[in-house]
Amino acid sequence: MINFQYLRTTSAKSALSLIAKDQNSKFIAGGTNLIDLMKRGVSSPEKLVDINHVPLKQIEMHKDMIIIGALASNTAVAEHEIIKDHLPLLAMALNAGASAQLRNVATVGGNMMQRTRCGYFYDTEMPCNKRQPGSGCGAVGGFNRMHAIFGTSDKCIAVHPSDMCVALTALDATVVIAGPKGEHKILFKDFHRLAGDTPQLDNNLKADEMIVRLEIPLNSIGRNSHYLKVRDRASYAFALVSVAAGLEIANHIVTDVRLAMGGVAHKPWRLTASEDFLRGKEASLENFEQAAKIAMKDAKSFGENDFKLVMAPNTIIEALTLAKSKI
Ligand code: SF4
Repeated sequence: MINFQYLRTTSAKSALSLIAKDQNSKFIAGGTNLIDLMKRGVSSPEKLVDINHVPLKQIEMHKDMIIIGALASNTAVAEHEIIKDHLPLLAMALNAGASAQLRNVATVGGNMMQRTRCGYFYDTEMPCNKRQPGSGCGAVGGFNRMHAIFGTSDKCIAVHPSDMCVALTALDATVVIAGPKGEHKILFKDFHRLAGDTPQLDNNLKADEMIVRLEIPLNSIGRNSHYLKVRDRASYAFALVSVAAGLEIANHIVTDVRLAMGGVAHKPWRLTASEDFLRGKEASLENFEQAAKIAMKDAKSFGENDFKLVMAPNTIIEALTLAKSKI
């Protein structure tokens, strides 16, 4: 771990100005991933700007929108009455992540910015295009049990590790970003990137920008929902496969649906084709099975993660069945 400068600030404006002065600086909030990266030599910022005291912890409802500040802790969001009442899908996903201790300090913004847990990425002796572009990918042909089956590239097959982000993708959230030119918005589903030829980039946030809040539209999808996470242990384990499913059903017919998966791609993976298939169809097991089949159309496995080709559709079917049972 290298020496670094530590600065603390109390406003988003000053945080942006501090980060703009030094290219090799980073924001720190909960630090649950960044400190690990620094200890292992994967990330070596010369300056850390502590933003924990910037007032971005709000959890509020405005008409048909729920607003969540970027610095609200994962626990604060999961346990907030507004979230439990209107977005239980988000609460379930948050509670499925990490451990209680980590959720107490991890923030919403940090959760979005966390990096893959691919073992090669954290081992500086091994090739990894994400850590060192051009060095190769240890996971292709190596240990890839946790790795992606959708949207992969020959440069990187890592998965995004978040549970929260899978739910937010399904919920059609919007990310509000502050930068030198003011605020702008980006759809949550477009925030994270596929690896493509630039696996070093996890998302579309620029170095001189910060996430300030999320906006989540209110609808009954978020309530009639289930987050199903399949993992090696019941707690403190990343998803092998997870599914966020939300349904609206009238007279046995699916009037609206949201589906997203985790543990399967470099970004939370929205199942738009499956959603399109289900809308207007009977909410039956047969149609859930067909939706899962459609979701798997372009899946590709890499050896150790072949089991995901079976686990993923089964998890989709089960998540839809559980979401339906809540209506
Ligand atoms: Fe690195 Fe991505 Fe390959 Fe893992 S999958 S070794 S993160 S390039």
